[in-house]
Amino acid sequence: MLNIALFGPPGAGKGTQSEFLIKEYNLFYISTGDLLRKEIKNQTKLGKQAQSIIASGGLVSDEIIVQIIEKTITDNPDANGFLFDGFPRTYIQAYILEGLMIKLNTSLNCLISLDVTEEESVRRLLHRGKTSGRSDDNEVVIRNRLKEYREKTLPVLKFYKDKGICFDVNSEKPIPEVKKSINKIVKDELSKRLLNIVLFGYPGSGRGSQGRAIAKKYGLEYVATGPMLGEEIEKGTEIGKQVKELYENGQLVPDEIVVQLIEQKLENSKEIKGFIFKGFPRTLVQSYILDGLLKKHGSSLAKIIEIEVPTLELIRRLDERSKTKDCMPYDTSTAKIVKRLQEHEYKTVPVIEKYNELHGVVKIDGTGSFEEVLEKISFEIENGFKNLR
Ligand code: AMP
Repeated sequence: MLNIALFGPPGAGKGTQSEFLIKEYNLFYISTGDLLRKEIKNQTKLGKQAQSIIASGGLVSDEIIVQIIEKTITDNPDANGFLFDGFPRTYIQAYILEGLMIKLNTSLNCLISLDVTEEESVRRLLHRGKTSGRSDDNEVVIRNRLKEYREKTLPVLKFYKDKGICFDVNSEKPIPEVKKSINKIVKDELSKRLLNIVLFGYPGSGRGSQGRAIAKKYGLEYVATGPMLGEEIEKGTEIGKQVKELYENGQLVPDEIVVQLIEQKLENSKEIKGFIFKGFPRTLVQSYILDGLLKKHGSSLAKIIEIEVPTLELIRRLDERSKTKDCMPYDTSTAKIVKRLQEHEYKTVPVIEKYNELHGVVKIDGTGSFEEVLEKISFEIENGFKNLR
C-alpha cells in the first residue's frame, strides 16, 4: 500500500494536487472536509452536529472525525493506498490515523506539507469563494480557519517530523512545479520498496531454473534455501554436516538453521529491487518467520506464484535429472523422490493454501517450454511492479 497525507493550511492547494496523485498512483481519496459536507447535505445526525462548527471555521470534534473516517477506511481494505486530504488535523487525529493504519496492517508512508503564507491562503480562498459555493470561504471565517490551523493543526507536523516522514513543499510556486516536487517525493519513497516474491511448486516443477532466470531478468536477489544449504555442505561447515545427514534421510532442515541463512542474506543484500524466495517457506512456521523477517526490514510479500505440473510429469522430470550431472543428493532414488513429493504435499501445500486465503496465489501452468513458463511468470512480475507504484 501507498498511504500519503497532504498537509497544509486551507488554500494551500491540497485539493488541486490530490487530483493528479489519485490518478497517477491509483489511490483512494479521503477528504474529511468532503465527507463532512456530504453528511451535511444528507442532513444526517453527524452532519447536523458538524454544520454550525464548519460554518464558523472551527474544527469538528475528533469523535465525529473518527466515525466518518473509520468506516471509509475499513470499507476499502483492498485499496492500492489512501490519500488523505485535511486529515490528520489535530495531534489526536495523528494517533487515530496510526491506529487505523495498524488495523489494515499498513502505515502512513509520507506526510507532504504544502507551505503558503497566511496572506496567500486568504487571497486564494477569497478567490475560490467566488465560485466554490462554500459558505466558509468568506474573510471572517477564513481568518478563523487559519487561526484553528495555527493553534491545533500545526503541532501535527512535529508528530511526523519526529517519525522522519514529513516532507515540505513550497506551495506558492506554480501548480505544475508543486506537482513536480510532490511527485519526486512519492517516487523516491516508492524506489525504496522491494518487490518480494515467493515461488512455489513441487520439486521438479522448474521453480529453481525459473526463479534464477526471473531474478536475473528483474534484478532481484534469488534466495533459495537448497543451494544455500548446499554451499554449507560444500564448505564442510558444522551446519553443512548436519544438513548432509538430514538430506540423506529425506528430511527437512530445522528452522533454526534456515532462518540464520536467510537472515544473513537479507542483511547482506543492498541496492536490490527485491527478493525471490524459492524453497522457502516450506512449512506454516516458516511462513510466519518470513513475514517476520520481511517486516523487520520494513518490507512485505508482493506476489506469490505457484508453478503447477502434474505428478507423473514431476516424477518423470526428477528421474531424468537423477541421471544427469544436475542430480541433487535428494533425487538419487525413486524412494527419495517420492518422499520429497510427499513432504511437499503434507507440509508446503497447507502454506500455499494459507497464502491463497491471505493474499491470493497466482497459479502458472508449468508444463510448457521453459520460455513459455518464463513468459507467464514475467507477466505476473511486471504486474507486481506496477502495483508497487
Ligand atoms: P476542508 O474541506 O478540508 O477545508 O474542511 C472544511 C471544514 O471541515 C474545516 O474548516 C473543518 O471545520 C471541517 N474539517 C474537515 N476536516 C476536518 C478534520 N480532520 N478535523 C476537524 N475538522 C475538519
